[in-house]
Amino acid sequence: VRVSIDEAIEGARAIGAKRILLQLPDGLKPDVFHIYDRLRSEFSVIVSSEPFYGACDIGSPEVYSRVDAVIQLGHSEMPNVDYPKPVFFVEARINSEIQIPPDSLLQLKDAGYRKIGLLCSIQYIDLMNRLALMLPELGLVPVIGKQDARMKYPGQVIGCNFSAAHSVAADVDCFLVVSTGKFHGIGVQLSTEKPVYILDMNMKSLVPMQEETDQFVRKRYARISRALDARKFCVVVDTKIGQFRIKLANVILDQIRKLGLEGVLCYTNDVKPSDYENMRCDAVIFTGCPRVSIDDEQKFSMPILTPVEFQLLFGFKRSNRYIMDEIVAVDRLDSDWLSN
Ligand code: SF4
Repeated sequence: VRVSIDEAIEGARAIGAKRILLQLPDGLKPDVFHIYDRLRSEFSVIVSSEPFYGACDIGSPEVYSRVDAVIQLGHSEMPNVDYPKPVFFVEARINSEIQIPPDSLLQLKDAGYRKIGLLCSIQYIDLMNRLALMLPELGLVPVIGKQDARMKYPGQVIGCNFSAAHSVAADVDCFLVVSTGKFHGIGVQLSTEKPVYILDMNMKSLVPMQEETDQFVRKRYARISRALDARKFCVVVDTKIGQFRIKLANVILDQIRKLGLEGVLCYTNDVKPSDYENMRCDAVIFTGCPRVSIDDEQKFSMPILTPVEFQLLFGFKRSNRYIMDEIVAVDRLDSDWLSN
């Protein structure tokens, strides 16, 4: 993984920052001593040891209000998030010299596809241009979709936003996704209904996502349908800067009340199962990061649903297929949450 903090240091210097909050994802935490040392010669530094998973999270106001700027390692900026302090994003990119054997891509041609939508998570974004050059040599046409305002790069994918896939879904035969894990592949398949292949960089092979996706949907319905008997719901808003969806939470609350059921609006910056167990609620609807409801469901004793899952289950949204929760834009933390 390639990380250079020089630009971030220059940026912080240019705005005259004296106090810096440093955020590192778990994968880069082993570098903390070295980076801290570099920063400390010039700035007063607070290191956040809390976990974070995206540019949607710059920590709690108690901490970031004490600094002049934030240096965040790992992710790319979310252009439509209104950060309250200057944030310098140091993207972690996997070394672009990684070899992709052309043979691994032939599977797409053998399956009869021609136009291939390319999608990469931030770590692999440098591979996009390489893939775009390789595909025509195999008689395939690369297509890179335009991202929406939550994303920085064309063709970029994150766990809560597949806009670059939506923008070209009608023009491609299938998608090729380069990322770690399978979540992005499943998300793209569900949100576009196109065949999706993940380029597994360890195995250097393509993995079709259809079976995983079918399994995912079956498991999800089994989990969320337990909420059909629920009477008491906690509708939870996450106060992380890029996850804050108070307006949506209020829509869901109204819908719960229309059903004659009980709903309580909760705020958190750290969603913990025990909090909702203590409230004796029957189900949680979490409007923050969609991955919490999906990846952490086992930790909760009650069903935890994304907002759109609730709407599908209770008939507020009509669709003959499962819909993945996506975040397009968030509400402003300072003014909006107080007025609701
Ligand atoms: S909301 Fe979740 S999926 Fe989206 S960027 Fe943040 S951590 Fe990642």
